[in-house]
Amino acid sequence: MATLLRAAPISQRIVEDLTQKCAELKKSGTTPHLQVMLVGEHSPSLIYTSNKKKFMEKIGATCDIHKLPADVSEEEFIRDLKRFANDKNVNGLFVQLPLPKHLSHLDVGQMVPYEKDVDGFHAQNLYAIMAGDTGQKALVPCTPKGIITMLKEANIELEGKKAVVIGRSMIVGKPMMLLLTNFNATVTLCHSRTKDLQRVCQDADIIIAAIGRAKFLDNSFLSPQKNQILIDVGINHDENGNVCGDIDQDSVMDFCEILTPVPGGVGKMTILSLGENLIKATENQIGKLK
Ligand code: NAP
Repeated sequence: MATLLRAAPISQRIVEDLTQKCAELKKSGTTPHLQVMLVGEHSPSLIYTSNKKKFMEKIGATCDIHKLPADVSEEEFIRDLKRFANDKNVNGLFVQLPLPKHLSHLDVGQMVPYEKDVDGFHAQNLYAIMAGDTGQKALVPCTPKGIITMLKEANIELEGKKAVVIGRSMIVGKPMMLLLTNFNATVTLCHSRTKDLQRVCQDADIIIAAIGRAKFLDNSFLSPQKNQILIDVGINHDENGNVCGDIDQDSVMDFCEILTPVPGGVGKMTILSLGENLIKATENQIGKLK
């Protein structure tokens, strides 16, 4: 039976570390401040932003959620975003996605200055990981960063491993592929047009599922003799309305070595990474002023 790789024990150590770093920053005169922009009343976004605020306050940082109505004009939205971008008291800034349709053409990832880009979506941060950075210089996208943290905490060696990433989004799949490559894994990036996905997965040492389809990956994708490691990024709802991942956890349980649960796995790591990015952004900004 698989060992469940949970976020909770890892979280405890990271929270302690971030709380200490935050206290040191405060002592030196700066309280790390995260500014969130939230447009409309999209209910998952309300929950996500409230959880992020609670987490920042838990580690001793401050967080403000700037709420704008769903019909806010593009002009007003950009004006507020620029104001936060230029505010020296704002250390981290992000726009909660999705935006309403009339704003969705805006490339907000590029409108946030790269040094405040705690989501890690700015071209300069993405270029750094494309150039080989594993997070020393760049603010790395939170979900892939959290997955790397989990793998490291579990002492899972990446060098020389065959990793399969399913999903090629800008926020998870593609940066995940780059980070794993930077840690010397050999990566296959899969998507909806991949031929014979089951065979590709059967040959992997590590499978990262970021698809957005409830319980998509079952034991027919696995090779039990390979002791595979399965990372489930998906946040979906099953037929009974319960939260579930992209992996059919019951089906794979006896066919793999390590499995991240949903909930209690990657989702929790994403907020931890956001906290790490806020502290890092603040430290970098102070370092620049010195
Ligand atoms: P996304 O933008 O929704 O894209 C889904 C990806 O899955 C696409 O690349 C798509 O391929 C691929 N795909 C869809 N059906 C497939 C199939 N049958 N076979 C192979 N690939 C298939 O992805 P996302 O934003 O990364 O989100 C993925 C999941 O992760 C969602 O459940 C989301 O809620 C969750 N998520 C969780 C966290 C967290 O903190 N845990 C963070 C972000 C996202 P094409 O490109 O060919 O269409």
